[in-house]
Amino acid sequence: MEPNSLNEALRKIPSVEHLLQSPAISGMADLTSRGFVVSIIQKFLGELRDSIRSGSEGVEMASDHNLLLSKLVAAIQERLRPSLRSVVNATGVIIHTNLGRAPLSSRAQKSLSALGACYTNLEYDLRAGERSHRDKILESILVELLGCEAATVVNNNAAALLLALNSLASGREVVVSRGELVEIGGSFRIPEIMARSGAILREIGTTNKTRIQDYAAAIGPQTALLLRVHQSNFRIRGFTHRPPLEEIVGVARAGGVPLLDDIGSGCLVDLRAYGISDEPVAQKSLAAGADLVCFSGDKLLGGPQAGILAGAERYIRMVRENPLMRTYRVGKLIAGALEATLAGYRNGRALEEIPVLGMISIPFDELQSRSSQFMDKLGLKLPEGATAQPARGESVVGGGSCPDFGLASPLIALRSDRVTAAQIESRLRSQEPPVIIRIEEDTVLIDLRTVFSPQEDALLQGLVDALRSG
Ligand SMILES: *Cc1c(COP(=O)(O)O)cnc(C)c1O
Repeated sequence: MEPNSLNEALRKIPSVEHLLQSPAISGMADLTSRGFVVSIIQKFLGELRDSIRSGSEGVEMASDHNLLLSKLVAAIQERLRPSLRSVVNATGVIIHTNLGRAPLSSRAQKSLSALGACYTNLEYDLRAGERSHRDKILESILVELLGCEAATVVNNNAAALLLALNSLASGREVVVSRGELVEIGGSFRIPEIMARSGAILREIGTTNKTRIQDYAAAIGPQTALLLRVHQSNFRIRGFTHRPPLEEIVGVARAGGVPLLDDIGSGCLVDLRAYGISDEPVAQKSLAAGADLVCFSGDKLLGGPQAGILAGAERYIRMVRENPLMRTYRVGKLIAGALEATLAGYRNGRALEEIPVLGMISIPFDELQSRSSQFMDKLGLKLPEGATAQPARGESVVGGGSCPDFGLASPLIALRSDRVTAAQIESRLRSQEPPVIIRIEEDTVLIDLRTVFSPQEDALLQGLVDALRSG
């Protein structure tokens, strides 16, 4: 650009003061702080100047003050929005770690809002009128549900495992099958956690075959613990062997060492009727004789992020007495939401109350009719060039569980001859509320299994907007 017209464009940029006086901006400055809005305007104008100097971009905005104002308002709104927001999960991945795993039951939501704003008896014994321990809050319902002596709750299952290893086995050996030296994701690897816990990893067997004799032969004076880890996110097929838990229990008892079973996803009900057959159920593991089990609160259990350790009193006590316990303890919100989630199980209403389990167990026909009603409404509003068609596909449980298993699901396939699938995906992501979808073979797929009914209108409008050309 000519230096003259460049300078002219720069001169046309309104001043911060001028912008602050426009009604749209001054309204926002009143809602928050003036200084905050001024800093956003200064940054915005700085970027505008840079873009004018580096090319012709921005020149139009410098002279079109309405355009500039609307972009500036959008920039301020963006900054005022909380960073953590609710999104519409139309991916069909039920336990989506990137999307915060399990959505909470309404009982758990009520507990959050009731307890959040108040003082609570988190560490106070109301009967005795004296200080108590927060662990007591959740222990009774866990003991009742799981049929064990004692239980404790920490921030997540990774912490539960680390604490258990550190409390029971620091400086001594922990026997683990080579087929179970897993990586869970987010760099959670059993050998590394073991090293950090101070325990010494004693690997046995091979990747594909570990025999009960391998466990028996590994036990010696240095052995503190046998650890079994659920192969959550992968399967080994073919020439394989893993001894059943009962056999490992037998060897542990004979050797006089405890057995910890990391079952991963916290499944507390039998989900075989819905096709999920290889997720270990916590009660069964304890009934089979595991001295301790640990699992997540926000995977198949369907509650808030937490790690649960349950089993024999003497081992739970060792964990509780570990000074590290203090660094992993949960607050009142997690304790309340977890107790409310567990109440759904105690009342025998888990499938109805807990969203994750509801999404797994919803009958295909019900999803199909929701899907076709949605498609009918969408069909009436589809912009030119766009089509919506029914497709068959699969939802997945996710969260590192049930790796080979898909739940047959009626999907909606969206295509447009004006907008690419990648563009649709990115537009949906930047809407309010953001909509997260998946793309397969250049087609946008919508899976209503993970969309809550009250979100459907927003999803519909979002799709219509994203499919518009231009
Ligand atoms: C998911 C998982 C973990 C980690 O649990 P977080 O709650 O995510 O910390 C540990 N062990 C197994 C077997 C798992 O599947």
